[in-house]
Amino acid sequence: CGIVGYIGRRDATPVLIQGLKRLEYRGYDSFGIATVGSAIEVYKKNGRISDGEAGVVGLRGCTGIGHTRWATHGEPSDLNAHPHTDCSGRIAVVHNGVIENYGELKRQLAGRGHTFRSETDTEVIAHLIEEHYDGDLLAAVNATLPLLRGSYAVLAIAEDTPQIVAARDASPLVLGVGDAEIFAASDMTPLLEYTERVIFLEDGDVADLAPGRYTVYHGGQTVERPIELINWC
Ligand code: GLU
Repeated sequence: CGIVGYIGRRDATPVLIQGLKRLEYRGYDSFGIATVGSAIEVYKKNGRISDGEAGVVGLRGCTGIGHTRWATHGEPSDLNAHPHTDCSGRIAVVHNGVIENYGELKRQLAGRGHTFRSETDTEVIAHLIEEHYDGDLLAAVNATLPLLRGSYAVLAIAEDTPQIVAARDASPLVLGVGDAEIFAASDMTPLLEYTERVIFLEDGDVADLAPGRYTVYHGGQTVERPIELINWC
């Protein structure tokens, strides 16, 4: 599948939709986006982006995440489309990959009172972040990742903070560095018209993205990843 994230000063929705169209070759059974304005708003839909994109009108915010799906767990449907949210609707995630131990995690979470809306492996990530979230999204994602077995590129947002936390292990994820804006995507194509400065995250990296700044962590330590200049011509 393809994932895309935007944080900056622009209206996130058109940037995300345009980015997802460029990533649609990676998966196209359903799509969705979530933005953070005063609250998290989600729109997700079975089918092609060009058939459903009118529905995103009204999603507001300069921070957002998007997904175009290639279903592995749970049939293609509106409910199984990403982003997935926690019980409270305060956290949203998109995910590329497979969480192999999702069945066990889901049973444990259900035993602790979580209710699930989808049949995906991905939804457990939103609920695990919720359990660890006390206002610090980075800490909550860092507490969640060691519980996951499998492959992931994940973007997470929370309703009370202009921030995206990105993480990858065995699924691709790149960052695009603009002037007062940061992009994240499965490959470089969604960044094309915005920036030529690209960072290729490595397996095990976690990145904390804010408008115009980013920090990459690996094994709990800050790391410098080189910015590559991509000549698009
Ligand atoms: N395993 C997830 C799902 O089936 C993500 C699939 C993908 O990478 O598109 O929803």
